[in-house]
Amino acid sequence: MDWNIAESQRCCTKCDCEFDDGDAYFSALYETSEAFLRKDFCPRCWDESDEDEHGRPFSFWQTEVPREEEPKKVFVDTNVIFDFFRQLAEEEHISVKRNFRYILGLMLMRKKKLKLKDVVREDGKEYLVLRRSRTQELHRVLDPKLSEEELDQVKAELTQILETELV
Ligand SMILES: [Zn+2]
Repeated sequence: MDWNIAESQRCCTKCDCEFDDGDAYFSALYETSEAFLRKDFCPRCWDESDEDEHGRPFSFWQTEVPREEEPKKVFVDTNVIFDFFRQLAEEEHISVKRNFRYILGLMLMRKKKLKLKDVVREDGKEYLVLRRSRTQELHRVLDPKLSEEELDQVKAELTQILETELV
């Protein structure tokens, strides 16, 4: 799989200013042909309606640089995860998106944001039917039937892209 996520550079994509410990910044995901690209922006340069060579962001969130004494991982709100999960639904035929959506679905179940309601089979494929606890809306997720090894790989990629621990 072609993968293209740079480690956070802790600086603004636009003005190159460096982020200090505790600084708030925005992370945005952009689509390139088969992968996602993450860019970080300082609050002054951030404008979600801005378009650059990668178009408008597919998904974005606000976060902050962990302080020295804090664990290194950055906390990403489950609402951000949920938005990302929902947006991925439109293109389940693209394997990277299908795999991400599946893993995010499992993660949201573990966090009790989604509940497994049913498993349906259609045209030789298996779908999880998940219900959102708060609104009762239903989400269908294609099970990509990943091996243990592939699951670990997708989790590692998502951990990198979101800079958060996927428990
Ligand atoms: Zn900036």
